[in-house]
Amino acid sequence: MTTVGAAVAALERAYPPGLAESWDAVGLVCGDPADELTRVLVCVDPTQSTVDEAVANGAQLVVAHHPLLLKGVHGVPADTPKGALVHKMVRNGVALFCAHTNADSADPGVSDALAEAIGLTVTGPLNPNADGKTGIGRIGELSEAEPFAVFVERVAEALPYTEGGVRAAGDPNRPIKRVAVSGGAGDSYLTVATEAGVDAFVTADLRHHPASEHTALPGAPALVDVAHWASEWPWCGQAAAVLRAALGGTVTVDVSIRRTDPWTAQAAGAPSRTGRFTG
Ligand SMILES: [Zn+2]
Repeated sequence: MTTVGAAVAALERAYPPGLAESWDAVGLVCGDPADELTRVLVCVDPTQSTVDEAVANGAQLVVAHHPLLLKGVHGVPADTPKGALVHKMVRNGVALFCAHTNADSADPGVSDALAEAIGLTVTGPLNPNADGKTGIGRIGELSEAEPFAVFVERVAEALPYTEGGVRAAGDPNRPIKRVAVSGGAGDSYLTVATEAGVDAFVTADLRHHPASEHTALPGAPALVDVAHWASEWPWCGQAAAVLRAALGGTVTVDVSIRRTDPWTAQAAGAPSRTGRFTG
């Protein structure tokens, strides 16, 4: 019999908790390691939608990238959104395991999955730890240089659709070969990406001021800003492969097909509203 604990052990070998940032909250959130495990769901966000998906699938374990309870709590009453989620999981015999910044930093980790999805061959971390192998972000290379406009289309094709789409900042003809990627919010790695001398930086949650100040710097990489969820979703397949390899044929491992990007609509506006402005 395979147990929840066996899956947790396999995940902690791939994503050692010691790699997590000091402020993070990773590991088993709820559930009994001794419980029998026949089915797992891997997702980015532990939300009502993905927990419903797990229950519908008959899973006994949700493996999520984002923590459910990052900040300290005094209770989990069922009349709060997160408390209700904990109750639903416990009542349905579903455990929750989170691998957050430990999965970002691990080799391979979240940004390796993002790089692979885009078609990059990874050469090393963007912001390496002392071992030179783990750390946040990755640098990788395309087999051949291509114009930035083509590269932006490549990124959009590689990742799941979101309403926010893919935004880009840079010369559409700029040749792109060496690329930095960082799954999730990447504002704080703009300087590191510039120092790395890459042609483009793919990340998520870039804001107005950091992005506009960055693009004014000489030699700064072109920017590709994707949805946070989309940037981390390729990791689900990587974590599922870790479980399949460790637990053999004893457990069915599903990757969530629920889109948990919080943005549900986009309005571009009519050209008449925007036509009088120029770049
Ligand atoms: Zn994230």
